[in-house]
Amino acid sequence: MENKNVLGFEVGASKTIALMGDLSGNVFSKIVTATKNEKDNKEILFNQLKELKGKVSKKYDFDYVSMTFPGAINRKGIVAYTPNLPGWKDYNLIKGLEERFDSKVFVENDANAQAIAEKIYGYGREYSNFIYLTIGTGIGGGIFINDRLYSGHNGWAGEFGHMVIGTGPKCGCGRYGCLETLASGSAIKRMASEAGKSMSGKEVFEAWFEGNKVAKTIIDKAAGSLTIGIANIVNIFDPEAIIIGGGITKNNERFLKYIRRKLKIELGNYRRRVRIIRASESLIEKAPLALASYRLNMYK
Ligand SMILES: [Zn+2]
Repeated sequence: MENKNVLGFEVGASKTIALMGDLSGNVFSKIVTATKNEKDNKEILFNQLKELKGKVSKKYDFDYVSMTFPGAINRKGIVAYTPNLPGWKDYNLIKGLEERFDSKVFVENDANAQAIAEKIYGYGREYSNFIYLTIGTGIGGGIFINDRLYSGHNGWAGEFGHMVIGTGPKCGCGRYGCLETLASGSAIKRMASEAGKSMSGKEVFEAWFEGNKVAKTIIDKAAGSLTIGIANIVNIFDPEAIIIGGGITKNNERFLKYIRRKLKIELGNYRRRVRIIRASESLIEKAPLALASYRLNMYK
């Protein structure tokens, strides 16, 4: 396929990335900025995107606009749910972008798009059936079955963060004891605060590396919940690999080793061969390029 240029946007609840790149994953220019969004005025965000387009596309023509978005989006582009970016529910995002950019448009949920980036440019190339799990402030994921992304009826398949694991605090989704409330970066931060320590998730991990007992208790709890979550995923999907990304695995091979050990015990007699792999960090910004490439080649 001809290597065409793509104008990419990664819209997050707090941060937005605009980039110019191509279908092979080369990035030519990039801008990172704070997301502007107002609940009752979609033009605020659209205007920001148009402004960013002007900056990153100065020297380049582009053939496609590709955007990752922090919400559930179905195949027609209708936004079903945006927990952290108010004002977009029931909106046709593809149509909205096509009207403003006069170009062919691709949109996808951000965690799904990360899974696609692994499939197109990363470790996912080696697997037909894998699960992508992202663990940061929250927990999300993407599901690849027979080389295709499975996104569900409304586009919110792979919400592994909202699997109930045990007793725990109330989650943003309304249930209690979701994986996200027990094993995410914010869960680790909360557990530290409950233990009287004001520490970020990263600081808790650093204290754990240094042998701190309070940190060990917290990481043990989070790792225990995460292991149960992963064992559930393995029992449902029987994937070849689980690729874990997000802030929690950054420079943190030790935590993944710990999870692999715990998982062997957790799966017990039903132990299966499943690889637990750390995601390719450099792929995050290539998600919109991967999305365009994936849709053009194989998505119907
Ligand atoms: Zn939940």
